[in-house]
Amino acid sequence: MKKNINPILLLGAHMPIAKGLTEAIEDGESLGCTTIQIFTKSSRQWKGKTLSQSNISAFKVRHKQSPIGPIMAHASYLINIGSPNPITLEKSIDALREELRRCDDLGVDFLVFHPGSALKSSEEECINKIAESINIVFDTIKTTSTLLLETTAGQGSNVGYTFEHLRDIIKQIKDKSRIGVCLDTCHIYAAGYDLSNEKSYNNTWAEFEKIVGLRYLKAIHLNDSAQGLGSKKDRHAHIGKGQIGIEGFRLIMNDPQLFNVPKILETPKDSLKEDAINLSLLVNLVEKNNKELVLKTPLKKYIKK
Ligand SMILES: [Zn+2]
Ligand SMILES: [Zn+2]
Repeated sequence: MKKNINPILLLGAHMPIAKGLTEAIEDGESLGCTTIQIFTKSSRQWKGKTLSQSNISAFKVRHKQSPIGPIMAHASYLINIGSPNPITLEKSIDALREELRRCDDLGVDFLVFHPGSALKSSEEECINKIAESINIVFDTIKTTSTLLLETTAGQGSNVGYTFEHLRDIIKQIKDKSRIGVCLDTCHIYAAGYDLSNEKSYNNTWAEFEKIVGLRYLKAIHLNDSAQGLGSKKDRHAHIGKGQIGIEGFRLIMNDPQLFNVPKILETPKDSLKEDAINLSLLVNLVEKNNKELVLKTPLKKYIKK
């Protein structure tokens, strides 16, 4: 279900589904989240268990009752819709279509996925194949969930580590109303886009606006980066404990152009306690004149007097 996005702080974390999908909403709620991310199935398997009608309706009812707004799902890491291998490619297109169907069944607003890996092909070939695959998926399934290309760190032969890559994919998508971008702060930093101080922060967003367009930005993954700027290494760190540092996140939390964009933590954790620490830190970075955004949400419990 598309919940109305009021100007409130949309902040949450990736919630495990080991106990169940409905329990992921309950966990998010216990943390005060106003948005969450889930896997709708195991992230390391091609096929998921079919969702029963009762599972689906329990999830939707729980979502409707909760203060959690938009929910996003992260697709399986196995999917590579830019693969030069025809067998993997077909399997990936089928899997992405299936993930989109699951999102639609559950009323999940967004499906985030890693664009793809070039492997032995060129980046350009990979990018064209990704766009072609998305068009096939869109042509063969009608859904209301939006597909989000996630920015990558550029590890291995992954594409999606420059804003130009995203632009070149989006340009080729026939139905642009169904595509968007999820910007991962750790990934773009590792890819060479600095966010750590005001000047570089402004430059990075100006570049994003110029090349991709902010209208395509539908979600942000909030992760600090354990590795350096341009390292191309994807290692998530706790907020303020990595190379981006507190200042970068303070800028994000107070940026009016990002107020309505759901922000999701994907920081390392053994339990929900680590999420609570990061959420508290982020909420307290919201400056006085923007506090209204927090006060309307359960996240206000983190505000330190
Ligand atoms: Zn991801
Ligand atoms: Zn991410």
